[in-house]
Amino acid sequence: MSFDLNDLLDRGGALADSAKRTAADLAQRGKRQLDLTAAQSRLAKAQRQLGALVYSLVRNGEHNDALVQKYVDAIAKVEAEIDALRADGAAPAAPAAGAAPHLCPQCGAEVEPDALFCNNCGAQL
Ligand SMILES: [Zn+2]
Repeated sequence: MSFDLNDLLDRGGALADSAKRTAADLAQRGKRQLDLTAAQSRLAKAQRQLGALVYSLVRNGEHNDALVQKYVDAIAKVEAEIDALRADGAAPAAPAAGAAPHLCPQCGAEVEPDALFCNNCGAQL
């Protein structure tokens, strides 16, 4: 039985390629994970800023719909980015594994865990 060095080299090359691909894939996944975490923190920041802006506008009886809309657009963009990253396989930064959804006691709509009021009916939570 002849020892086929070329065949062995081919196999070795294929294995190395596959290891390289796996490493690249892991690096890619790690990057997506970092992107997702960064996007989520940008989202939280934009939401806080929008909240502060709306609070100050309402409190002072003012309107600045153009500015509010800018924040809403920016937030929608980040949300789309997060959706894309999740669809791409990145796991949510704070997985609510097995956590029951928070429901409004008034209308039963799903609400954010830290929401003060229901987005659907406005009930205090
Ligand atoms: Zn409600």
